[in-house]
Amino acid sequence: PLSRSGCHRTQGSRPFCLSAARAILGKWGGDEGKQKLTLKDVAELLRKKECQRVVVMAGAGISTPSGIPDFRSPGSGLYSNLEQYDIPYPEAIFELGYFFTNPKPFFTLAKELYPGNYRPNSAHYFLRLLHDKGLLLRLYTQNIDGLERVAGIPPDRLVEAHGTFATATCTVCQRNFPGEDFRKDVMEDRVPCCPVCTGVVKPDIVFFGEQLPQRFLLHLTDFPMADLLFVIGTSLEVEPFASLAGAVRSSVPRVLINRELVGPFAWQQRHNDVAQLGDVVGGVEKLVELLGWSDEMQTLMQKEKEKVGRGSERQLPPQPLHSLCWSYPGEWVTTLPRVQKTPKATQT
Ligand SMILES: [Zn+2]
Repeated sequence: PLSRSGCHRTQGSRPFCLSAARAILGKWGGDEGKQKLTLKDVAELLRKKECQRVVVMAGAGISTPSGIPDFRSPGSGLYSNLEQYDIPYPEAIFELGYFFTNPKPFFTLAKELYPGNYRPNSAHYFLRLLHDKGLLLRLYTQNIDGLERVAGIPPDRLVEAHGTFATATCTVCQRNFPGEDFRKDVMEDRVPCCPVCTGVVKPDIVFFGEQLPQRFLLHLTDFPMADLLFVIGTSLEVEPFASLAGAVRSSVPRVLINRELVGPFAWQQRHNDVAQLGDVVGGVEKLVELLGWSDEMQTLMQKEKEKVGRGSERQLPPQPLHSLCWSYPGEWVTTLPRVQKTPKATQT
């Protein structure tokens, strides 16, 4: 479809589209005659429970304040860690073909992002508060760090569009396991193997070309039902996630909390769109303040901080021993460090 600025989404160059859309919308001021909605108005709608089926779309912008490395940018700590593996390009770690040849780079990422290394920030806890107050219909996240779960948002309120480390699947027999079962392997730089068939076990992160999780289909009912949409910390560049922002009814207020205008907020603005631009956590905290939830948020974060602290001390279950893993295309993965670390497993 053509945007108001006349640029096609795929044909037009982004900078031109954005500037053209801004110029036109600046003069129009959205829909003429209608009062522009503000963040304060949105806070009021939530306080009065006039909106109580809130759908949230979240992206990397809510994770970077927690210190999650941007694994796609060269120069970030994680990318340097991966350089030792000589990966052809960063995206290769999410390609199945590459994974079956060399799963090590992916598991280096897994080790970094396995639940426990990072803590949620105010943005995650704001979403948790929305849930606690019964206002959150669903949170769609593109993040794979699992911080939404750590913040206490139950999995049934979540659609982890790009997957999760919370569960894992054997690449050979397709059995499902809790991600925790393989924590020790991942932490000790071993490629996890299926306890049943010895196949390589892959955390349920969506690789390029893989289907999105079944739960993603919930968008078919969630978005038409939503009465408020938050888009927080995402560039809305990755499809099919990106198009969802346009799937709420036109009467539904859409709130963008992000560094800059993105997606339909830039090129297909509606009169009831609100953009809180700048620092993402700062924007969320401003909203929390307008909602009068600041004290509650402080209490919640303090309580959760103590819980996370206790959680890290728990004992890990004993792990089965594996020597070799069977990888999907039918080759033995023989380069596992386990073979070196366990003298008994060395075969001569
Ligand atoms: Zn298996």
